[in-house]
Amino acid sequence: MIKAIYIHIPFCYYKCPYCDFLSVVESPISKQEYIKALFREFELYKDLEACIETVYFGGGTPSLLSPDEIGKILERLYKTFDLSRVKEITLECNPETYREMEFKEIKELGINRISIGVQSFTEKGLKILGRKHTLGDTYRCLESVFSSGLENVNVDLIWGFPSQNEEDLYREFEELEKFPVKHISTYLLTLYDDTPMGISYKKGKFKLPEEEKIDRFHKILSENLKRIGFERYEISNWAKEGYECKHNLVYWKMEEFLGFGVSAWGFYENNRYGNTRNIYKYFKLLEEKKTPIEHKVQICGLEFEKEKVMLGLRLTEGIENKYLQFVPEYIKEFMEVKNGRLRIKEEFLLTSNEIIAEILKNMELTFNEV
Ligand code: SF4
Repeated sequence: MIKAIYIHIPFCYYKCPYCDFLSVVESPISKQEYIKALFREFELYKDLEACIETVYFGGGTPSLLSPDEIGKILERLYKTFDLSRVKEITLECNPETYREMEFKEIKELGINRISIGVQSFTEKGLKILGRKHTLGDTYRCLESVFSSGLENVNVDLIWGFPSQNEEDLYREFEELEKFPVKHISTYLLTLYDDTPMGISYKKGKFKLPEEEKIDRFHKILSENLKRIGFERYEISNWAKEGYECKHNLVYWKMEEFLGFGVSAWGFYENNRYGNTRNIYKYFKLLEEKKTPIEHKVQICGLEFEKEKVMLGLRLTEGIENKYLQFVPEYIKEFMEVKNGRLRIKEEFLLTSNEIIAEILKNMELTFNEV
């Protein structure tokens, strides 16, 4: 049963130099045309069995759409799918966009979770990351969202950026503590080859913090988020009790979801599909009533099991104990069984990719032997 809907809004004010998400500053199609294309895409899926519990507007910068435009999309979703049991509707928002009035309007529409791209509470962090918003924008945005009555608020933070020091990192938590935020997503800066920052890095224009420093930062981050009342439930995600992101849990637990919009991904009936990354092509295909899907893979048997392990081990609740048989002996010291479930020990979460890769390799070997 399809439980979640993701909607990609690809517009941005500016392109951040580290970002590899599909977003455009100058779009070949208008926002109104894009919304029409979304409506056409909804139609293609209207007969699927779905009982939607979460909706997520991601981007790009969804808060570049007006509350009225968001309202129209939601209205169409309600008309097309069964949203009678929806529990969580998230909107990603950049600090320089919405103010109290807009937050009040979107609250009226039923949006009950806001995710704000703060990225850093230091001027230095914003500058190095090439963000165009100011700290003033961040504080205004956070004050506005809470005074509008919305309380389920996430803040995105990036850590491990060039020249960040311990003092800068502590500052993030000092500032964070001033707001009644319920959820934090903390991302270690990752540089992709085809981004301006990735290219500069490859040319040796700056250095990233060395491994030892990253380990220390990770320890500081974990200790401080726990100190201010957050609990880690996924490698990069922390929440106050009861405020885990229901939408992202659908992904990590391999439940079914639909993705709408350019570059969006979805998963249903054991198929993982991805839409075209070309916004104009996305629009044209839908205008011709054709599907914008560009990739589709069936995930069953071993592939299904591997994905379950790969995604499930991101969660601190871990995976079923039956998967212990696939953990190679030399990896066991990094793992533990808690409440009958298998998980990566917290102190090794930073190396989870390597640990998971070894387990997946072993799964392949075992399956091939049978
Ligand atoms: S605002 Fe977000 S989506 Fe847009 S370019 Fe920056 S990081 Fe990427």
